[in-house]
Amino acid sequence: MKVVFGPVSSRRFGRSLGIDLSPSKKQCNFDCVYCELEAKKAQEKQDEIVEVAQIISEVQMTMDKGIEFDFLTLTANGEPSLYPHLDELINSLRQIVKNKKLLILSNGTAVLDQNKFQSLLKLDVVKFSLDSAISKTFYRIDRALKNINLELMIQKMAEFKTKFQGDLVMEILVVKDLNDNEEEFIALNNALATISPTRIDLSTIDRPPSYPVKSIDEEKLYELSKLITCAPVFLAKRNYKEQKLDLNKEELLKFLHLRAQSQIDVEHTFNESSKILLQELIQKNEVKIIDLAGVRFYKA
Ligand code: SF4
Repeated sequence: MKVVFGPVSSRRFGRSLGIDLSPSKKQCNFDCVYCELEAKKAQEKQDEIVEVAQIISEVQMTMDKGIEFDFLTLTANGEPSLYPHLDELINSLRQIVKNKKLLILSNGTAVLDQNKFQSLLKLDVVKFSLDSAISKTFYRIDRALKNINLELMIQKMAEFKTKFQGDLVMEILVVKDLNDNEEEFIALNNALATISPTRIDLSTIDRPPSYPVKSIDEEKLYELSKLITCAPVFLAKRNYKEQKLDLNKEELLKFLHLRAQSQIDVEHTFNESSKILLQELIQKNEVKIIDLAGVRFYKA
């Protein structure tokens, strides 16, 4: 089975060439209610394993064709960190894709295994999920194996961030009537503050889920995003219906000081004169452009 796919373009990670570490079937230690794959009992280990040599050969062939991409993304039908040869694979990929960023899209459980924890430190960007910081909700949404301890996982994520030289992105997926309330978001904000990620991505269900759960509307998602104050938040999909912002210099600086804004948000929410003013402030170095794991933000 082919393991390399793409490249695909995404707002979150630019142009990315994917590696599917479980191409033949779903192998995951979660069974999330929102998973776009079929519902399946969570498992601790992979039982169908792709050879490292096959992956390297496919990546090499893609590179030989001169296909352009920014990120080489470790992903899976399931949890990519369950791949038993992860360390060997990362070391080998480093040798052949020297000028590309290596990224993993993990559900976060990799931090609970000391070997995987160490392997992930070798990557450029790591994305972990955290759908709830409240145990009961976490198990209801992610249906994780019972030996996965949420509190310990959050602690280990925080420890990972202190050792990691790359960018750590945290992702929250919001499910209607499960984690779409203030109590959940206050708990998430507190947990995320201890982790101190580079960026937080917030989204809701946008593909048919494996269990009968529903998404929330974009306005509610935007309101909930305001409760996350510990790091810049990126909403990958947002319907910009509100009136455009008309800011003077003081207001603009205060706005971008309180909360860094993504380039996409600024494009859609600033009126023309605010955008011109922003460019002037960038020239004067009063506003900085920061690249947070592939997404551009403005910060005063
Ligand atoms: S962690 Fe990902 S692959 Fe695993 S069940 Fe959840 S959504 Fe599906």
